[in-house]
Amino acid sequence: MPAEPIWPFDNSYARLPERFFARVRPTPVAQPGLVRLNEPLAEALGLEVAALRGKAGLAMFAGNRLPEGAEPIALAYAGHQFGQWVPQLGDGRAVLLGEVVDRDGRRRDIQLKGSGITPFSRGGDGRAPIGPVVREYLASEAMHALGIPTTRSLAAVTTGEPVLRERVEPGGILTRVAHSHVRVGTFEYFHWREDVDALRTLADYVIARHYPELADDARPHLALLKAVIDRTAELVAHWISVGFIHGVMNTDNTSLVGETLDYGPFGFLDAYHPRTCYSAIDIENRYAFDQQPRIAHWNLTRLAETLLPLLHEDEDEAVARAGEALNGFLPRFEACHHARLRAKLGLAESRRGDIDLAHELLDLMARQQADFTQVFRALSDERMDDPDEGRARRCFARPEALDGWRARWIQRLRQEGRPEPARQAAMRAVNPKFILRNHLAQWAVDAATERGDFGPMDQLLQVLTRPYDPQPEAEALAAPPRPEQQVYQTFCGT
Ligand code: AMP
Ligand code: MG
Repeated sequence: MPAEPIWPFDNSYARLPERFFARVRPTPVAQPGLVRLNEPLAEALGLEVAALRGKAGLAMFAGNRLPEGAEPIALAYAGHQFGQWVPQLGDGRAVLLGEVVDRDGRRRDIQLKGSGITPFSRGGDGRAPIGPVVREYLASEAMHALGIPTTRSLAAVTTGEPVLRERVEPGGILTRVAHSHVRVGTFEYFHWREDVDALRTLADYVIARHYPELADDARPHLALLKAVIDRTAELVAHWISVGFIHGVMNTDNTSLVGETLDYGPFGFLDAYHPRTCYSAIDIENRYAFDQQPRIAHWNLTRLAETLLPLLHEDEDEAVARAGEALNGFLPRFEACHHARLRAKLGLAESRRGDIDLAHELLDLMARQQADFTQVFRALSDERMDDPDEGRARRCFARPEALDGWRARWIQRLRQEGRPEPARQAAMRAVNPKFILRNHLAQWAVDAATERGDFGPMDQLLQVLTRPYDPQPEAEALAAPPRPEQQVYQTFCGT
């Protein structure tokens, strides 16, 4: 008999003032079934895998049994959704069970998502269909493997209960692990209530937990704002480098620690076009691929507004300081974005004209709807001296259009004198072969929803957790969708 799973909880958010959350227990479900346990993550969290795999572990992931030391709370937050102010959102279908300190000494939130109604449910059912649970599990683990800061997925379970959406779907619960569930919307919640004490408490909490190096800064709250701006700029540049579109960059989905948070109608680019927007609910294309830096800046501006009373007692001075911090966003984003573009092209040094060279390629790709991931991966494998070499050419409908660009790229590479194998290896380490293409996610979701079949999910995880490895046996999962597989829209499906 496996022992009762022990969770080394050490909760801090539940020590904050009561108005920061609502104490609420998960609602038990009829018949839980384990879909997947993330064993490497469990180990990194210092949890015992064998015990979690047992009946008691399953009951915990389903919300049927509260682990010892858990103090379940639903967090209060507000947010701007598609630019519209919503004074109260909050965890409407999630509870934070508590925090554990991982093997690296970092505090991680353990949250059940889809665990029943809370005081923040606003008429929702507090539940999640299994489809979105599978999507979030796949996406977060794929993003992590790509090296992008993200919340993680520790477990997915089915509930044995139906969930009514556009049709009846099987229910599921995701156990989400995050460095933080504090969002821009958490600050907005207290800002709107003119609760400066709470804002100060929250800001100090975030500094102590996530940015301890700022605690001794002469202006810690300004330093916090700058740090969040930097991390968010870095995150968005990272997204863009792999063709990720978050899809619903509302302020309540914007993390204070620069972690990708809330996978709803996200998507990865297949064919490259900067205006790509898959989200079915985003009719104005507000959150299109190339809008993400602008939106991140907009969200950070909302954060800055909430911090004004902490920045200086004189409002003009506070506004000036916040403005100066916000002005740091674009240079930070561009520095990261440009560094990533250079790396994607295999350029180890920085020279004038590099970014133009990258944009010329992107323009060609946009004009011919070339596949974003395949083009960069083909360039990684390309051998410069072979006149018959045509890997990247094969990604284009009119390959001759690439020839002039390729000649200039090779000329630029030659200026560095890096040996070809080193250049190829460096490029393969930043240009993934495998991404969670929309049709692949859909394949896994459909199998799970319609047949309770988690085989596709397992197959995808196996490949997507090593996205930079060639894995020749998985070639089919690297391919862009055939026309009949193409997914043009993604849905929240919550
Ligand atoms: P999201 O789209 O996941 O960022 O959620 C936006 C807001 O809607 C959050 O406050 C959620 O907690 C809430 N919400 C989403 N789905 C549900 C649901 N099924 N039941 C209750 N609240 C929900
Ligand atoms: Mg959300």
